[in-house]
Amino acid sequence: MATRTPVIAGNWKMNTDVESGLKLAKGIAELSGAVGGVDKIVCPPFVSIASVAQALAGSSIQVGAQNVSANTDGAFTGEVSTSMLQSLVSHAIVGHSERRVLYGETSVQVAEKAVAAANAGITPVLCIGEDLSVRKLGNAESFVAAQLEASLSGVTDWDSLIVAYEPVWAIGTGEAATSDQAQEMTTVCRQVIRSLAPNAADSVRVLYGGSVNSGNVVELLAQPDIDGALVGGASLKAEEFSKLIAAAGAS
Ligand code: PEP
Repeated sequence: MATRTPVIAGNWKMNTDVESGLKLAKGIAELSGAVGGVDKIVCPPFVSIASVAQALAGSSIQVGAQNVSANTDGAFTGEVSTSMLQSLVSHAIVGHSERRVLYGETSVQVAEKAVAAANAGITPVLCIGEDLSVRKLGNAESFVAAQLEASLSGVTDWDSLIVAYEPVWAIGTGEAATSDQAQEMTTVCRQVIRSLAPNAADSVRVLYGGSVNSGNVVELLAQPDIDGALVGGASLKAEEFSKLIAAAGAS
């Protein structure tokens, strides 16, 4: 079986301005720059990406975007293309549930973004996850399998892909999935990948996201199909985020 390097990725969402973002990035680099055995990524808001990327240049902390356009250029007001990001980021989150729910992004659009990112040498961190009503109906597995399959439509570069299982009910609620639930669902994600690309299933990293913190990260990362975490709230504090990185480095 392939060895999968764990990933800790921080999604700052619409938090931090340029100055506080720089401070946060530098704090994380100071505390976690020397930690090995884990891929460390911060995803600041677009306006801070250039300064954060400059501050982290030469460090082991990578920079990601929180979104990316599937279009190359032109009349797409407010959008940011892969070519604009290419020199600044290594990763881009696509299909976060907030974009799906609040901005109506479909899995077809998410798949287009994932393909555009990979074509530009940017690794997509592709998010999927069920909401509470789906879970209560007992349909979480089939929902996530279908959503992931649709969101992977046209994806062929399996070396440039990270999947993040993020149950909507666990995001920002302080109520993380149990490690058993998270393991069950990341296994479903891996099965979907196996059905589409048998050779890639053991090497694609599948993360868990949803209220991860220093109190639950060790147990979550101990699960065989969980290769790291996509982190919101806890990524906004350098010390807390660095504890997650340390846990992943030691896992
Ligand atoms: C997220 O938004 O991707 C996330 C996981 O948020 P939180 O860690 O705050 O639940």
